Amino acid sequence: MLECYVAINLKKKKMLNKLKNLLINFHLEFKKFFALRILGKKYVRKGKCNACGRCCREIYVRHSKAIIKDEELFNKLKKLHFFYSYLKVTGKNETGLVFECTKLDKEKGICTAYSRRAVICRQYPQEEIFMMGGFVSDDCGFEFIPIESFDKVLNKINKQYQSGKKTKDFIIMR
Ligand code: SF4
Ligand code: SF4
Repeated sequence: MLECYVAINLKKKKMLNKLKNLLINFHLEFKKFFALRILGKKYVRKGKCNACGRCCREIYVRHSKAIIKDEELFNKLKKLHFFYSYLKVTGKNETGLVFECTKLDKEKGICTAYSRRAVICRQYPQEEIFMMGGFVSDDCGFEFIPIESFDKVLNKINKQYQSGKKTKDFIIMR
C-alpha cells in the first residue's frame, strides 16, 4: 500500500515538473514572439540581477557617439544630466575613462539611490548596449537569447537577395 502511494506521488511530481517546464517554454516563446513582432527586437532577456554590482563599477560614458576619454569634457557633461554627478573616475584604458557610481553600496551590492536612479539604471541591461559596442559581463545574472537562429537570419537574407529585393551578391550557406 505504501509502495503504491509513493509511486503515485512520484508520478504526480513528474507530471507537475513536465507541466512547469511546458509553461516556462510557452512563456519564453511568447516573450520571443512579442519582442520580435511587436517590439522589433532581436534578443530576449532572461535571468535576474544577482546584485554583483559590476555594472555600477565599470562604466563607460558615451556622448555624441563617442566614449568619453577626457575628464574636462566629462566635467562639462555633469551639468547635462544628474546621473553624471553620481559618477567618479576610477581609471582609464584604451576604450576611455572608467567610472564607478558613488551611489553603489559595494559591500551589499545595492543601489543607495534606488528610487532616484536614472532611467538607464532602471532598464539595464538592454539589447541596445550591443549596438553601442557594449556587452554584459560573464557574472551578470542576465543573459540575452537570440530570437532567431543564425541560420534562419541568413536564409532570410539569401531569400531577399534571390528574390531581387536586395541587389548585392547573396550569401550561400553550405
Ligand atoms: S552586472 Fe548584472 S547581475 Fe550584476 S548588478 Fe548589474 S545587472 Fe545585476
Ligand atoms: S544609480 Fe544605482 S543603479 Fe545606477 S549606477 Fe549608481 S548604484 Fe548603480
